[in-house]
Amino acid sequence: MKKIVGIFLVISLIFVSACAKQNVNKGNDDGKIIVTTTIGQIADAVKNIGGEKVIVNSLMGPGTDPHLYKATQGDIAKLEKADIIFYSGLYLEGKMLDVLERINTTKPTYAIAEAIDKEKLLSASGGSYAYDPHVWFDINLWKEALEVVKTSLIERDPDNKDYYEENTKKYFKQLDELRAYAVEEMAQIPDEQRVLVTAHDAFGYFGKAFDMEVMGLQGLSTDSEYGLGDVQNLVDTLVKRNIKAVFIESSISERSINAVIEGAKQKGHEVKIGGELFSDAMGEEGTEEGTYIGMYKHNVKTISDAIK
Ligand code: ZN
Repeated sequence: MKKIVGIFLVISLIFVSACAKQNVNKGNDDGKIIVTTTIGQIADAVKNIGGEKVIVNSLMGPGTDPHLYKATQGDIAKLEKADIIFYSGLYLEGKMLDVLERINTTKPTYAIAEAIDKEKLLSASGGSYAYDPHVWFDINLWKEALEVVKTSLIERDPDNKDYYEENTKKYFKQLDELRAYAVEEMAQIPDEQRVLVTAHDAFGYFGKAFDMEVMGLQGLSTDSEYGLGDVQNLVDTLVKRNIKAVFIESSISERSINAVIEGAKQKGHEVKIGGELFSDAMGEEGTEEGTYIGMYKHNVKTISDAIK
């Protein structure tokens, strides 16, 4: 009799613990954690850190400009379905803040870039920005932001702490290798060519990390229209400093940079398009550039090939 009661107890315990587990991960039937992110760079990191324990939805796909992006009805449904929400913050997703702040009252919602030590951020002057929000271009700062992803997943699912920690370690090792590759590749660019001209000021951290001067036609955001004066100023700088290449960005219309090229031409200075960079959005899913590491490598190679 004792034995039967014992077996019954064990079975009940297994049942109870299975239920408890289900409760922790109450995302969907598989017990996976449903994560919704704004930009693809965060989604990619969550896939790496969360592995098979997460289902990740990114609201902003290839070519999407996060400064201008407004949440659709479908996005709101995805946010409401999520167990955890990650966005970049520092006002990057300026037009989504209302929605994100509202969802923050009912769901764990994290602005991962806002966890970075403020001393390490580039400050911004004017506009709605206190800091430059394009932090993913400094790989070390990005790792700091991604600590939030790791700790939030562990908080949500403590039973798999080791798994998330191991995945983070692996991913960070790849990011360190990426950084080493970028340092080596960017070092090949001669001093007088170390100027990066793009459609908007997304590359401040990139420039700081690799000792490149950066110039954007538009400021940190794309929500203010650039004027003729901005085009003319940039043209004058290109001519005066004999800068030979400018870069387009996948999430911004080529029109602005073409106006600069045309303006330089009228002054007898030939400027070429050095290539397309992934600044605020990643490439197509399923391609190498559809990952953070792939897009970063693409940018480094495109820049160094064009101006070294
Ligand atoms: Zn931007």
